[in-house]
Amino acid sequence: MIQTKPSVLTILVAGGAGFVGSHLCEHLLEQGHRVICLDSFLTGTQDNVLPLAAYPNFRLIQQDVADPLDISERLDRVYNLASPASPPHYQADPVHTMMTNVQGTLNLLMLAERHGARFLQASTSEVYGDPEMHPQREDYVGHVNCTGSRACYDEGKRAAEALCYDFVRAKRADVRVARIFNTYGPRMRPDDGRIVSNMIVQALTGQPMTVYGDGSQTRSFCFVSDLVAGLMALMEARIAPATPVNLGNPEEFEIRDLAMLVHDTIPTTSTIVYRDLPEDDPKRRRPDISRARELLGWQPKVKLSEGLPQTIAWFAAHVKAQATHTGETASVQTLVQG
Ligand code: NAD
Ligand code: UDP
Repeated sequence: MIQTKPSVLTILVAGGAGFVGSHLCEHLLEQGHRVICLDSFLTGTQDNVLPLAAYPNFRLIQQDVADPLDISERLDRVYNLASPASPPHYQADPVHTMMTNVQGTLNLLMLAERHGARFLQASTSEVYGDPEMHPQREDYVGHVNCTGSRACYDEGKRAAEALCYDFVRAKRADVRVARIFNTYGPRMRPDDGRIVSNMIVQALTGQPMTVYGDGSQTRSFCFVSDLVAGLMALMEARIAPATPVNLGNPEEFEIRDLAMLVHDTIPTTSTIVYRDLPEDDPKRRRPDISRARELLGWQPKVKLSEGLPQTIAWFAAHVKAQATHTGETASVQTLVQG
């Protein structure tokens, strides 16, 4: 029987130097594809991309997606992951967050249109805001405060989805939208400010473990390898789903229970302390993933009880390495083009 060789695609990953993006780049490179990572390094790190330079098919462009974009090489796929994702990071320059998600997504959609490339938008469970429907299904239109401090991200991502479906209706591009729920794993920044990285780093360094509010709010945590598999399945689905697709792990935890779990897993002198709940903090969040199961045959495989120890081990090595760090030996500038 004649075996057909899987075709090598040229794939742009905007936001590829970030936590999720760097895992995605690595998986695509492992599959033999050509990967162009486009990133401004706003929240991404050179540690995430330097190992990718070992792949001859990897190229890095340092650029802001909100600025005019052009890529000379013919693109087959465009993943848009470019946006700060942690509340402290996206609130640090809210106007830029909005422009990243609106102008940046428009620039990337137009790039995909010019190249005839498939486009995948990394949207978010934040489009549901502080949800009144639980668990959240894709047909729920959300409950978002458009004047609050999370709006730059939530409304920016909602506007980005609107742009995506305007391109679909006008038949300008083949677009897929993933609504990503809280994802964790190796390569989150220690200073990222999100719950999993904060709890682990605080416990490892003996700092107070900060639970916001009374910790009864819930989140559902997806391990990064599961998310990357879901993103790739959605991008490669033969027919684009007509609607967004939730990607997340439906295992739901109260935040105070997560804090206790980390506290019990890491030998630590840290105590758990309670701080004010941030404005508009969603009370409950859990994905309904029936659509992903049906359309993509995808569901998460890694339970928190398996993913958390792997994440803790990575942070333990990383935080220790940072403490003993004496200077950079390699610079991302040696990799950057454009
Ligand atoms: P991250 O902050 O680690 O990565 C984002 C990357 O985008 C970084 O490398 C950053 O430098 C880059 N970036 C930001 N603004 C940019 C700009 N204007 N131009 C070019 N590059 C820019 O975040 P992440 O957790 O890896 O999230 C990746 C994507 O997934 C984001 O779009 C985020 O909204 C979405 N998402 C993530 C989660 C999660 O739990 N991790 C949940 C929902 C949605
Ligand atoms: N949170 C917390 N302590 C922290 C960081 C976050 O209690 O040090 C809470 C936060 O208020 C929210 C939940 O954990 O209720 C998840 O926060 P994260 O920033 O990880 O994600 P998001 O709010 O975007 O879901």
